[in-house]
Amino acid sequence: MPRRRAVSRTMQAQIRQRAQALCEYCHTAEQWQYVPFTVDHIVPLVHGGMTTLTNLALACFHCNRRKSAQQTGLDPISGVVVPLFHPRQQRWLDHFVWSADGLLVAGRTATGRATITALALNRERAVAIRAADVAVGRHPPRDDLHDLPLP
Ligand SMILES: [Zn+2]
Repeated sequence: MPRRRAVSRTMQAQIRQRAQALCEYCHTAEQWQYVPFTVDHIVPLVHGGMTTLTNLALACFHCNRRKSAQQTGLDPISGVVVPLFHPRQQRWLDHFVWSADGLLVAGRTATGRATITALALNRERAVAIRAADVAVGRHPPRDDLHDLPLP
């Protein structure tokens, strides 16, 4: 496979459909955002990551920028550096859960907690947008509610 930065429109459409138009890190819905989401190289190009469907994830601008070339982060509970969430190899609900009010994402695992910290998934602006989305019933994503939230 060629190692290219450019992601074709066909691949972008496949990635968007696979992600159900959610940022694969913070699970924000692209539908309600002004800026279209970007495509993240899960293993960054600078670390040898390829522009292939197995290494690409839909990401909101903020998550993509915060993640940058990071692949690991500090778990704030254990103090251990662990791999960040990998959307192609891991399931979001295994690592994250919404608070009962839907405003905050919590980590179920060290990887979840490290990703929340590294990507600032509970940044003030994101929480404010979630609050507005909760009020009109379009957040959290319906499929995220199959698992019970943390108390
Ligand atoms: Zn995001």
